[in-house]
Amino acid sequence: MAIFDKRITYPLLVPTGLIVLSALAVWKWPGLMKQVHGVVELRGLLLTLPLLPYAFFAIGIILGWRFNNAGLILTSLALGLAYLALPDGALHRSARTVARISIPEALKVLLPLNLGFFATMRRRRLQTPLGLSCIGFVLLQAFLLLIFCQPSGSASSQLALKMKASWPPLYQVITDYSGRLKTWLHGEAFLGYSTISAFGALSFAAAFVFLFVRFRRGGDALSAGFLGSLVAAFLGVSGGHSAPSPMIYFSAAGLALLISAVESSFSMAYLDELTGLLGRRSLNEELVNLGRKYVIAMIDIDHFKKFNDQYGHKTGDQVLKMIASKLKDITGGAKVFRYGGEEFTAIFPGKEIEEALPHLDVYRKIIESTPFMIRGKERRQKSAKNRAEGTSKGQKSVTVTVSIGAAAPGKDLTSPEKVLKQADKILYKAKKAGRNRVES
Ligand code: GH3
Ligand code: MG
Ligand code: MG
Repeated sequence: MAIFDKRITYPLLVPTGLIVLSALAVWKWPGLMKQVHGVVELRGLLLTLPLLPYAFFAIGIILGWRFNNAGLILTSLALGLAYLALPDGALHRSARTVARISIPEALKVLLPLNLGFFATMRRRRLQTPLGLSCIGFVLLQAFLLLIFCQPSGSASSQLALKMKASWPPLYQVITDYSGRLKTWLHGEAFLGYSTISAFGALSFAAAFVFLFVRFRRGGDALSAGFLGSLVAAFLGVSGGHSAPSPMIYFSAAGLALLISAVESSFSMAYLDELTGLLGRRSLNEELVNLGRKYVIAMIDIDHFKKFNDQYGHKTGDQVLKMIASKLKDITGGAKVFRYGGEEFTAIFPGKEIEEALPHLDVYRKIIESTPFMIRGKERRQKSAKNRAEGTSKGQKSVTVTVSIGAAAPGKDLTSPEKVLKQADKILYKAKKAGRNRVES
Protein backbone atom coordinates (compact mmCIF):
# COMPACT_ATOMS: atom_id res chain seq x y z
CA MET A 1 0.00 0.00 0.00
CA ALA A 2 3.08 2.18 -0.14
CA ILE A 3 1.70 4.12 -3.04
CA PHE A 4 -1.10 5.51 -0.86
CA ASP A 5 1.27 6.35 1.95
CA LYS A 6 0.34 9.90 3.03
CA ARG A 7 4.00 10.78 3.48
CA ILE A 8 4.58 9.99 -0.19
CA THR A 9 1.39 11.16 -1.84
CA TYR A 10 0.91 14.46 -0.02
CA PRO A 11 4.07 16.24 -1.25
CA LEU A 12 3.28 15.05 -4.79
CA LEU A 13 -0.18 16.61 -4.83
CA VAL A 14 0.92 20.12 -5.81
CA PRO A 15 3.33 19.16 -8.63
CA THR A 16 0.91 16.55 -9.99
CA GLY A 17 -2.00 18.99 -9.81
CA LEU A 18 -0.01 21.64 -11.65
CA ILE A 19 0.96 19.23 -14.42
CA VAL A 20 -2.61 18.02 -14.86
CA LEU A 21 -3.88 21.61 -14.96
CA SER A 22 -1.20 22.47 -17.51
CA ALA A 23 -2.18 19.55 -19.71
CA LEU A 24 -5.80 20.72 -19.53
CA ALA A 25 -4.79 24.28 -20.37
CA VAL A 26 -2.74 23.14 -23.38
CA TRP A 27 -5.65 21.02 -24.57
CA LYS A 28 -8.26 23.74 -24.17
CA TRP A 29 -5.97 26.58 -25.24
CA PRO A 30 -7.66 27.60 -28.51
CA GLY A 31 -11.07 27.82 -26.83
CA LEU A 32 -9.62 29.71 -23.87
CA MET A 33 -7.96 32.20 -26.19
CA LYS A 34 -11.17 32.83 -28.03
CA GLN A 35 -12.85 33.72 -24.75
CA VAL A 36 -9.97 35.93 -23.60
CA HIS A 37 -9.96 37.80 -26.90
CA GLY A 38 -13.61 38.59 -26.31
CA VAL A 39 -12.72 40.52 -23.15
CA VAL A 40 -10.79 43.68 -24.00
CA GLU A 41 -9.29 44.04 -20.53
CA LEU A 42 -7.69 40.61 -20.73
CA ARG A 43 -6.05 41.03 -24.13
CA GLY A 44 -3.08 42.90 -22.72
CA LEU A 45 -2.51 40.01 -20.39
CA LEU A 46 -1.76 37.74 -23.31
CA LEU A 47 1.32 39.75 -24.16
CA THR A 48 2.80 39.22 -20.72
CA LEU A 49 1.94 35.50 -20.48
CA PRO A 50 5.11 34.28 -22.23
CA LEU A 51 7.12 36.14 -19.60
CA LEU A 52 5.44 34.30 -16.73
CA PRO A 53 7.96 31.44 -16.52
CA TYR A 54 10.82 33.94 -16.23
CA ALA A 55 9.09 35.59 -13.29
CA PHE A 56 8.80 32.23 -11.52
CA PHE A 57 12.42 31.32 -12.22
CA ALA A 58 13.61 34.73 -11.01
CA ILE A 59 11.74 34.25 -7.73
CA GLY A 60 13.22 30.75 -7.54
CA ILE A 61 16.71 32.20 -7.83
CA ILE A 62 16.02 34.79 -5.14
CA LEU A 63 14.52 32.19 -2.77
CA GLY A 64 17.41 29.85 -3.48
CA TRP A 65 19.86 32.60 -2.64
CA ARG A 66 18.05 33.41 0.61
CA PHE A 67 17.79 29.77 1.70
CA ASN A 68 21.36 28.87 0.67
CA ASN A 69 19.94 26.39 -1.76
CA ALA A 70 22.22 26.14 -4.79
CA GLY A 71 20.00 23.37 -6.18
CA LEU A 72 17.04 25.72 -6.40
CA ILE A 73 19.12 28.47 -8.02
CA LEU A 74 20.73 26.18 -10.58
CA THR A 75 17.48 24.42 -11.44
CA SER A 76 15.72 27.77 -11.93
CA LEU A 77 18.61 29.04 -14.05
CA ALA A 78 18.73 25.93 -16.22
CA LEU A 79 14.96 26.01 -16.72
CA GLY A 80 15.05 29.72 -17.54
CA LEU A 81 17.79 29.25 -20.14
CA ALA A 82 16.03 26.23 -21.61
CA TYR A 83 12.82 28.20 -21.92
CA LEU A 84 14.73 31.06 -23.52
CA ALA A 85 16.29 28.67 -26.01
CA LEU A 86 13.02 27.05 -26.98
CA PRO A 87 11.65 27.94 -30.35
CA ASP A 88 9.03 30.54 -30.75
CA GLY A 89 8.60 28.61 -33.94
CA ALA A 90 11.21 30.44 -36.01
CA LEU A 91 14.36 28.94 -34.53
CA HIS A 92 12.97 25.46 -34.64
CA ARG A 93 11.79 25.51 -38.23
CA SER A 94 14.95 27.06 -39.56
CA ALA A 95 17.04 24.58 -37.60
CA ARG A 96 15.30 21.78 -39.40
CA THR A 97 16.20 23.10 -42.78
CA VAL A 98 19.93 23.11 -42.14
CA ALA A 99 21.93 19.97 -41.47
CA ARG A 100 22.26 20.53 -37.77
CA ILE A 101 20.63 19.43 -34.56
CA SER A 102 17.83 21.54 -33.27
CA ILE A 103 17.94 23.08 -29.83
CA PRO A 104 14.83 21.26 -28.54
CA GLU A 105 16.34 17.90 -29.44
CA ALA A 106 19.51 18.74 -27.57
CA LEU A 107 17.49 20.07 -24.63
CA LYS A 108 15.55 16.84 -24.30
CA VAL A 109 18.84 15.12 -23.56
CA LEU A 110 20.68 17.82 -21.60
CA LEU A 111 17.93 19.33 -19.47
CA PRO A 112 16.90 16.17 -17.57
CA LEU A 113 20.53 15.37 -16.75
CA ASN A 114 21.12 18.89 -15.48
CA LEU A 115 17.96 18.91 -13.40
CA GLY A 116 18.78 15.52 -11.93
CA PHE A 117 22.23 16.63 -10.88
CA PHE A 118 21.23 20.06 -9.59
CA ALA A 119 18.62 18.56 -7.27
CA THR A 120 21.51 17.03 -5.33
CA MET A 121 22.84 20.54 -4.61
CA ARG A 122 19.92 21.66 -2.47
CA ARG A 123 21.91 21.82 0.74
CA ARG A 124 24.91 23.55 -0.78
CA ARG A 125 25.68 27.18 -1.18
CA LEU A 126 26.19 28.68 -4.60
CA GLN A 127 29.24 30.65 -3.54
CA THR A 128 31.43 27.54 -3.25
CA PRO A 129 33.81 26.14 -5.87
CA LEU A 130 31.28 23.42 -6.77
CA GLY A 131 28.37 25.87 -6.96
CA LEU A 132 30.28 28.28 -9.15
CA SER A 133 31.54 25.45 -11.38
CA CYS A 134 27.92 24.46 -11.92
CA ILE A 135 27.07 27.97 -13.09
CA GLY A 136 30.03 27.75 -15.47
CA PHE A 137 28.82 24.33 -16.58
CA VAL A 138 25.36 25.68 -17.44
CA LEU A 139 26.81 28.61 -19.37
CA LEU A 140 29.21 26.30 -21.20
CA GLN A 141 26.32 24.13 -22.33
CA ALA A 142 24.43 27.18 -23.51
CA PHE A 143 27.51 28.26 -25.48
CA LEU A 144 28.00 24.81 -27.01
CA LEU A 145 24.33 24.63 -27.95
CA LEU A 146 24.64 27.89 -29.81
CA ILE A 147 27.80 26.74 -31.56
CA PHE A 148 26.42 23.37 -32.57
CA CYS A 149 22.85 24.35 -33.31
CA GLN A 150 23.51 27.78 -34.80
CA PRO A 151 19.93 28.88 -35.01
CA SER A 152 19.70 30.98 -38.15
CA GLY A 153 19.65 34.70 -37.68
CA SER A 154 21.38 34.37 -34.30
CA ALA A 155 24.74 35.81 -33.41
CA SER A 156 26.22 32.33 -33.28
CA SER A 157 25.24 31.58 -36.86
CA GLN A 158 26.91 34.79 -38.00
CA LEU A 159 29.94 33.82 -35.96
CA ALA A 160 29.90 30.47 -37.72
CA LEU A 161 29.83 32.16 -41.10
CA LYS A 162 32.83 34.27 -40.16
CA MET A 163 34.59 31.17 -38.94
CA LYS A 164 33.87 29.41 -42.21
CA ALA A 165 35.66 32.21 -44.02
CA SER A 166 38.59 32.71 -41.68
CA TRP A 167 39.16 29.30 -40.12
CA PRO A 168 37.66 26.58 -42.28
CA PRO A 169 39.15 23.57 -40.43
CA LEU A 170 37.47 24.47 -37.13
CA TYR A 171 34.24 25.17 -38.91
CA GLN A 172 34.50 21.77 -40.54
CA VAL A 173 35.04 20.02 -37.20
CA ILE A 174 32.01 21.70 -35.67
CA THR A 175 29.83 20.92 -38.65
CA ASP A 176 30.96 17.30 -38.62
CA TYR A 177 30.14 16.88 -34.94
CA SER A 178 26.88 18.67 -35.35
CA GLY A 179 25.98 16.34 -38.18
CA ARG A 180 26.90 13.28 -36.13
CA LEU A 181 24.87 14.54 -33.18
CA LYS A 182 22.00 15.08 -35.53
CA THR A 183 21.92 11.44 -36.57
CA TRP A 184 21.86 10.46 -32.90
CA LEU A 185 19.32 12.94 -31.71
CA HIS A 186 16.97 13.12 -34.64
CA GLY A 187 17.51 9.73 -36.16
CA GLU A 188 16.13 7.30 -33.66
CA ALA A 189 12.57 8.00 -32.75
CA PHE A 190 11.67 6.36 -29.46
CA LEU A 191 9.17 3.53 -29.97
CA GLY A 192 7.81 5.35 -32.96
CA TYR A 193 7.07 8.59 -31.12
CA SER A 194 8.30 11.28 -33.41
CA THR A 195 8.56 13.91 -30.66
CA ILE A 196 11.33 12.19 -28.76
CA SER A 197 14.55 10.44 -29.66
CA ALA A 198 15.80 7.36 -27.88
CA PHE A 199 18.50 9.45 -26.22
CA GLY A 200 15.99 12.00 -25.00
CA ALA A 201 13.77 9.28 -23.56
CA LEU A 202 16.73 7.58 -21.90
CA SER A 203 18.00 10.79 -20.37
CA PHE A 204 14.59 11.72 -19.02
CA ALA A 205 13.95 8.23 -17.69
CA ALA A 206 17.30 8.18 -15.90
CA ALA A 207 16.71 11.58 -14.29
CA PHE A 208 13.16 10.63 -13.37
CA VAL A 209 14.18 7.39 -11.65
CA PHE A 210 17.03 9.16 -9.86
CA LEU A 211 14.81 11.97 -8.54
CA PHE A 212 12.01 9.58 -7.68
CA VAL A 213 14.31 7.41 -5.58
CA ARG A 214 15.62 10.49 -3.80
CA PHE A 215 12.07 11.64 -3.17
CA ARG A 216 11.06 8.25 -1.80
CA ARG A 217 13.97 8.37 0.61
CA GLY A 218 13.40 11.93 1.80
CA GLY A 219 9.67 12.21 1.18
CA ASP A 220 9.84 15.98 1.53
CA ALA A 221 8.19 18.76 -0.40
CA LEU A 222 11.29 20.07 -2.14
CA SER A 223 12.27 16.67 -3.55
CA ALA A 224 8.73 16.39 -4.89
CA GLY A 225 9.13 19.88 -6.38
CA PHE A 226 12.33 18.89 -8.19
CA LEU A 227 10.65 15.76 -9.52
CA GLY A 228 7.56 17.70 -10.63
CA SER A 229 9.59 20.41 -12.35
CA LEU A 230 11.54 17.75 -14.26
CA VAL A 231 8.34 16.21 -15.60
CA ALA A 232 6.75 19.58 -16.40
CA ALA A 233 9.87 20.91 -18.13
CA PHE A 234 10.21 17.73 -20.11
CA LEU A 235 6.63 18.04 -21.31
CA GLY A 236 7.47 21.66 -22.12
CA VAL A 237 10.37 20.76 -24.39
CA SER A 238 8.80 17.70 -25.96
CA GLY A 239 5.07 18.28 -25.98
CA GLY A 240 4.83 19.43 -29.57
CA HIS A 241 5.96 22.96 -30.16
CA SER A 242 2.62 24.58 -30.51
CA ALA A 243 2.72 28.03 -29.01
CA PRO A 244 1.30 27.62 -25.48
CA SER A 245 2.86 24.30 -24.55
CA PRO A 246 6.36 25.47 -23.46
CA MET A 247 4.95 28.54 -21.73
CA ILE A 248 2.38 26.59 -19.75
CA TYR A 249 4.60 23.67 -18.79
CA PHE A 250 7.57 25.84 -17.89
CA SER A 251 5.29 27.98 -15.73
CA ALA A 252 4.14 24.79 -14.02
CA ALA A 253 7.78 23.75 -13.52
CA GLY A 254 8.59 27.13 -11.95
CA LEU A 255 5.51 27.11 -9.75
CA ALA A 256 6.12 23.55 -8.57
CA LEU A 257 9.60 24.61 -7.48
CA LEU A 258 8.40 27.77 -5.74
CA ILE A 259 5.52 26.17 -3.87
CA SER A 260 7.68 23.28 -2.73
CA ALA A 261 10.44 25.67 -1.61
CA VAL A 262 7.95 27.64 0.49
CA GLU A 263 6.50 24.41 1.84
CA SER A 264 9.91 23.12 2.85
CA SER A 265 10.83 26.41 4.50
CA PHE A 266 7.63 26.04 6.52
CA SER A 267 8.85 22.61 7.64
CA MET A 268 12.21 24.08 8.54
CA ALA A 269 10.55 26.66 10.75
CA TYR A 270 7.89 24.49 12.35
CA LEU A 271 9.21 20.94 12.42
CA ASP A 272 11.93 19.53 14.59
CA GLU A 273 14.58 18.18 12.24
CA LEU A 274 15.67 15.14 14.25
CA THR A 275 12.28 13.72 15.22
CA GLY A 276 9.97 15.26 12.60
CA LEU A 277 7.62 16.34 15.40
CA LEU A 278 6.28 19.88 15.57
CA GLY A 279 8.83 22.08 17.29
CA ARG A 280 8.84 24.82 19.88
CA ARG A 281 7.53 27.50 17.51
CA SER A 282 4.44 25.42 16.74
CA LEU A 283 3.95 24.76 20.44
CA ASN A 284 3.98 28.48 21.20
CA GLU A 285 1.36 29.08 18.50
CA GLU A 286 -0.74 26.20 19.81
CA LEU A 287 -0.66 27.66 23.34
CA VAL A 288 -1.98 31.00 22.09
CA ASN A 289 -4.84 29.32 20.24
CA LEU A 290 -6.01 26.88 22.94
CA GLY A 291 -9.63 26.94 24.13
CA ARG A 292 -10.64 26.90 27.80
CA LYS A 293 -10.51 23.19 28.44
CA TYR A 294 -7.30 21.28 27.78
CA VAL A 295 -4.56 19.21 29.37
CA ILE A 296 -0.86 19.79 28.94
CA ALA A 297 1.61 16.98 29.63
CA MET A 298 5.38 17.26 29.82
CA ILE A 299 7.25 14.10 28.98
CA ASP A 300 10.91 13.58 29.86
CA ILE A 301 13.20 10.62 29.24
CA ASP A 302 14.61 9.09 32.41
CA HIS A 303 18.36 9.13 33.03
CA PHE A 304 19.01 10.13 29.47
CA LYS A 305 22.33 11.72 30.28
CA LYS A 306 23.58 8.37 31.54
CA PHE A 307 22.28 6.70 28.39
CA ASN A 308 24.19 9.16 26.21
CA ASP A 309 27.33 8.68 28.27
CA GLN A 310 27.10 4.94 27.97
CA TYR A 311 26.05 4.45 24.35
CA GLY A 312 26.98 7.70 22.67
CA HIS A 313 25.09 10.71 21.44
CA LYS A 314 24.18 9.10 18.10
CA THR A 315 22.45 6.20 19.75
CA GLY A 316 20.79 8.76 22.03
CA ASP A 317 19.42 10.46 18.94
CA GLN A 318 18.00 7.15 17.71
CA VAL A 319 16.21 6.74 21.04
CA LEU A 320 14.77 10.25 20.71
CA LYS A 321 13.45 9.29 17.28
CA MET A 322 11.90 6.11 18.63
CA ILE A 323 10.26 7.94 21.56
CA ALA A 324 8.94 10.59 19.13
CA SER A 325 7.59 8.06 16.64
CA LYS A 326 5.63 6.31 19.40
CA LEU A 327 4.44 9.69 20.65
CA LYS A 328 3.01 10.47 17.20
CA ASP A 329 0.67 7.51 17.70
CA ILE A 330 -0.47 8.51 21.19
CA THR A 331 -4.21 8.03 21.64
CA GLY A 332 -6.74 10.54 22.93
CA GLY A 333 -6.35 13.10 20.14
CA ALA A 334 -3.26 14.75 21.61
CA LYS A 335 -1.08 17.13 19.63
CA VAL A 336 2.57 16.40 20.30
CA PHE A 337 5.68 18.56 20.16
CA ARG A 338 9.38 18.32 20.87
CA TYR A 339 9.77 20.85 23.62
CA GLY A 340 13.55 20.72 23.42
CA GLY A 341 16.36 18.30 24.29
CA GLU A 342 14.85 15.10 25.61
CA GLU A 343 11.57 16.71 26.61
CA PHE A 344 8.29 16.47 24.76
CA THR A 345 4.90 18.10 25.20
CA ALA A 346 1.47 16.58 24.57
CA ILE A 347 -1.63 18.76 24.50
CA PHE A 348 -5.13 17.28 24.75
CA PRO A 349 -7.53 19.98 23.59
CA GLY A 350 -11.04 19.80 25.11
CA LYS A 351 -10.12 17.09 27.63
CA GLU A 352 -10.31 16.91 31.42
CA ILE A 353 -7.25 15.66 33.24
CA GLU A 354 -8.93 12.35 34.17
CA GLU A 355 -9.65 11.75 30.50
CA ALA A 356 -6.06 12.39 29.43
CA LEU A 357 -4.25 10.37 32.10
CA PRO A 358 -5.12 6.90 30.75
CA HIS A 359 -3.76 7.81 27.31
CA LEU A 360 -0.54 9.09 28.86
CA ASP A 361 -0.16 5.94 30.89
CA VAL A 362 -0.69 3.76 27.83
CA TYR A 363 2.08 5.72 26.12
CA ARG A 364 4.39 5.34 29.14
CA LYS A 365 3.81 1.58 29.13
CA ILE A 366 4.48 1.34 25.39
CA ILE A 367 7.87 3.02 25.85
CA GLU A 368 8.68 0.87 28.86
CA SER A 369 7.98 -2.30 26.91
CA THR A 370 9.65 -1.32 23.63
CA PRO A 371 13.13 -2.81 23.47
CA PHE A 372 15.76 -0.70 21.80
CA MET A 373 18.49 -2.61 19.98
CA ILE A 374 22.04 -1.36 20.27
CA ARG A 375 24.59 -2.65 17.83
CA GLY A 376 27.91 -3.89 19.13
CA LYS A 377 30.06 -1.11 17.72
CA GLU A 378 27.89 1.53 19.34
CA ARG A 379 28.70 0.32 22.81
CA ARG A 380 31.28 2.18 24.71
CA GLN A 381 33.96 1.38 27.29
CA LYS A 382 31.94 -1.15 29.17
CA SER A 383 31.77 -3.26 26.05
CA ALA A 384 33.36 -6.34 27.60
CA LYS A 385 30.65 -6.50 30.19
CA ASN A 386 27.97 -5.63 27.68
CA ARG A 387 29.10 -8.31 25.30
CA ALA A 388 28.53 -10.84 28.01
CA GLU A 389 24.91 -9.67 28.29
CA GLY A 390 24.47 -9.28 24.57
CA THR A 391 22.41 -11.34 22.21
CA SER A 392 24.05 -13.72 19.77
CA LYS A 393 24.09 -11.20 16.89
CA GLY A 394 26.30 -8.81 18.82
CA GLN A 395 23.26 -6.71 19.62
CA LYS A 396 22.07 -5.64 22.98
CA SER A 397 18.52 -4.84 23.90
CA VAL A 398 17.91 -2.02 26.34
CA THR A 399 14.78 -0.24 27.46
CA VAL A 400 14.27 3.39 28.28
CA THR A 401 11.49 4.88 30.36
CA VAL A 402 9.77 8.24 30.50
CA SER A 403 8.28 10.29 33.31
CA ILE A 404 5.22 12.42 32.66
CA GLY A 405 3.68 15.38 34.48
CA ALA A 406 0.21 16.58 33.46
CA ALA A 407 -1.79 19.66 34.38
CA ALA A 408 -5.04 21.37 33.37
CA PRO A 409 -6.26 24.95 33.82
CA GLY A 410 -7.66 25.77 37.26
CA LYS A 411 -7.92 28.45 39.96
CA ASP A 412 -4.41 29.83 39.75
CA LEU A 413 -3.58 28.24 36.46
CA THR A 414 -5.28 30.75 34.23
CA SER A 415 -3.05 30.75 31.16
CA PRO A 416 -1.60 27.96 29.02
CA GLU A 417 1.90 29.15 29.97
CA LYS A 418 1.10 28.70 33.65
CA VAL A 419 -0.41 25.28 33.01
CA LEU A 420 2.71 24.25 31.13
CA LYS A 421 4.92 25.41 33.97
CA GLN A 422 2.77 23.48 36.41
CA ALA A 423 3.07 20.33 34.24
CA ASP A 424 6.83 20.78 34.38
CA LYS A 425 6.73 21.04 38.19
CA ILE A 426 4.64 17.89 38.39
CA LEU A 427 7.09 16.16 36.09
CA TYR A 428 9.81 16.97 38.60
CA LYS A 429 7.60 15.35 41.24
CA ALA A 430 7.31 12.23 39.09
CA LYS A 431 11.10 12.10 38.83
CA LYS A 432 11.50 12.37 42.60
CA ALA A 433 8.91 9.71 43.18
CA GLY A 434 11.02 7.18 41.28
CA ARG A 435 10.57 7.92 37.53
CA ASN A 436 8.72 5.85 34.89
CA ARG A 437 5.36 7.19 36.07
CA VAL A 438 2.59 9.63 35.23
CA GLU A 439 1.70 12.25 37.83
CA SER A 440 -0.93 14.95 37.85
P1 GH3 B 1 16.31 12.68 34.51
O1 GH3 B 1 15.87 11.28 34.64
O2 GH3 B 1 16.27 13.40 35.81
O3 GH3 B 1 15.53 13.41 33.46
O4 GH3 B 1 17.81 12.64 34.07
P2 GH3 B 1 18.39 13.00 32.66
O5 GH3 B 1 19.78 12.52 32.61
O6 GH3 B 1 17.47 12.51 31.60
O7 GH3 B 1 18.25 14.57 32.67
P3 GH3 B 1 19.29 15.73 32.41
O8 GH3 B 1 18.47 16.96 32.26
O9 GH3 B 1 20.36 15.72 33.47
O10 GH3 B 1 19.99 15.37 31.09
C1 GH3 B 1 19.34 15.46 29.85
C2 GH3 B 1 20.27 14.89 28.82
O11 GH3 B 1 19.63 14.81 27.57
C3 GH3 B 1 21.48 15.74 28.61
C4 GH3 B 1 21.77 15.58 27.16
O12 GH3 B 1 22.94 14.85 26.97
C5 GH3 B 1 20.62 14.80 26.60
N1 GH3 B 1 20.10 15.40 25.38
C6 GH3 B 1 19.41 16.53 25.23
N2 GH3 B 1 19.13 16.76 23.93
C7 GH3 B 1 19.67 15.73 23.23
C8 GH3 B 1 19.71 15.39 21.84
O13 GH3 B 1 19.19 16.08 20.96
N3 GH3 B 1 20.35 14.24 21.49
C9 GH3 B 1 20.92 13.43 22.44
N4 GH3 B 1 21.52 12.31 22.05
N5 GH3 B 1 20.91 13.74 23.74
C10 GH3 B 1 20.28 14.86 24.15
MG1 MG C 1 15.16 16.98 30.99
MG1 MG D 1 15.55 13.40 31.41
